[in-house]
Amino acid sequence: MRQSQLFTKSRREAPKDEESLNAQLLIRAGYVHKEMAGVYSFLPLGLRTFEKIVGIIREEMNAIGGQEVALTALQNPEIWKTTGRFDDIVVDNWFKTKLKNGSDLPLAFTHEEPMTFMMKPFIQSYRDLPKYVYQFQTKFRNETRAKSGIMRGREFMMKDLYSFSRTQSDLDAFYEQAALAYERIFERVGIGASTFKTFASGGVFSKYSHEYQTICDAGEDIIFVDESKNIAINQEVFTDEVIAALGLEKESLVRKKSIEVGNIFKLGTSFSDPLGLTYKDEDGESKPVIMGCYGIGPGRLMGTIVELLSDDKGIVWPEAIAPFRIHLLSLGADEVTDGVYRTLTEAGIETLYDDRDARAGEKFADSDLLGIPYRIVIGKRSAESGQAEVKRRTGEDVETVSITELSAYFQNR
Ligand code: ATP
Ligand code: MG
Repeated sequence: MRQSQLFTKSRREAPKDEESLNAQLLIRAGYVHKEMAGVYSFLPLGLRTFEKIVGIIREEMNAIGGQEVALTALQNPEIWKTTGRFDDIVVDNWFKTKLKNGSDLPLAFTHEEPMTFMMKPFIQSYRDLPKYVYQFQTKFRNETRAKSGIMRGREFMMKDLYSFSRTQSDLDAFYEQAALAYERIFERVGIGASTFKTFASGGVFSKYSHEYQTICDAGEDIIFVDESKNIAINQEVFTDEVIAALGLEKESLVRKKSIEVGNIFKLGTSFSDPLGLTYKDEDGESKPVIMGCYGIGPGRLMGTIVELLSDDKGIVWPEAIAPFRIHLLSLGADEVTDGVYRTLTEAGIETLYDDRDARAGEKFADSDLLGIPYRIVIGKRSAESGQAEVKRRTGEDVETVSITELSAYFQNR
C-alpha cells in the first residue's frame, strides 16, 4: 500500500483525555479512532492487525473442531429471564433499550443463553454430541471504568466458543484441548512468554475457572506467579487452600499486575438445566448437556501487545500480526523505490510504501511509531549503488542488501 494514498496520518500528540499507553500509541499512529471513552473504531492499518489476530484465533479454534457462527447483538429478553440474568441486580452492566411497543430489548453483553437456546433443535441424541460452536461478535458492556484504551471497551469484539458435551469427562478432555489452543494463540501473537494459565474464580458459573493473564504493569488484575512451574493464581482466590491444592509454595509465588487476555470456564449444566438443553442417552434416558465456554478479546489482546512490546519510539508488532511486514521508505529515490515496491508486492511480501513527499526525519519517526517489523530505506546514493538499507524495528544494526536481491532476502526468512 502506498502511504500517500492512506487517509490516516500519524500525529505527535494523543488526545489529552487518553490515559492508556495502548490507545495513545494506536491513536497517534492512526490505527484507531477514539469515538468516546471505551469506544474505539479501527482504521485501515489497525484493522489489518486486528484481522490477523482474529485469523490466528480462528485457525486455532477450527483446529480443535470449532464451527463458526454469528449470533445477533440484539437479544431476546425472554431467553435471559429463564436463567435470571436479565435482572439488573444480577447483571449490572447491561445496555438495554426498548422496542417501539415499549418492551425490553437488550444488547448482547455475552451469549451463553442465546447460544444454548439456539442449539436446542440440533441436539437430541448422544449421537449429536460433542459440538463446539464459536463466533467473533460484538459485546456491549456498561463498564464502570473505561480507562484502559482498547483493552476495556464498552463495545468490543469477543471470540466466544461454547462446548456441548455428553459427560463431565468429555468436557474435561475438551477443556484441556482448548487450554492448549489458547497457549498456541498467545505464543503466535508474541506474548506467550509473559502469559500464564491462572487459577481463578468461576464467578456465578462454577467454583473455579482458568484465566490467561499477561504480566504487565498496565493490568487491572493482581496474580501470584510461580514462573518455574508456569502457573499463577488470581488474587481473588489466593487462599491457603488453593495454594496447597495446586501443590505450590507460598514463597515461590510472586505478586504481579496482569491483564486477563482470555478465560475458560466449565459451565456444567448451569445453562442447559434452566434452558432445557437435553439429549437422549443410549438407554433412552434424557440428560442435560454438559457445557463449557471459552473467551478471548482480540481487541484486548491487541492492546496488551502494544502495552507489552512498545518502546519509547512507538509500537513494536510481532511479525505474525503486523499490518505489513515491510515499511519501505523512499528518500528522494522514487523511481527506483517504485520498482522495489512493485517487485516486493508481486512476490507477496506485504509492504507499506512511504512514497510521501516528506523529510527523512519525519519518515523515520513515523516508521518507528508504526512499528512495522522491517524497514527498507532507499536514498539517492543507495539507488545509484544498487544497495538498500534494511533494519529491524527492534534492532540497531543496518544491513546492506542488493536491491535486486531484496525479495529473495525476505522470502528466505
Ligand atoms: P474482566 O474481568 O476483565 O472484566 P471478564 O472476566 O468480564 O473480563 P469475560 O466476560 O469472560 O471477561 O470475557 C472474555 C474475554 O473477553 C476476556 O478474557 C477479555 O479478553 C475480553 N474482554 C472482556 N471484557 C472486555 C472489554 N470490556 N473490552 C475488551 N475485551 C474484553
Ligand atoms: Mg475476569
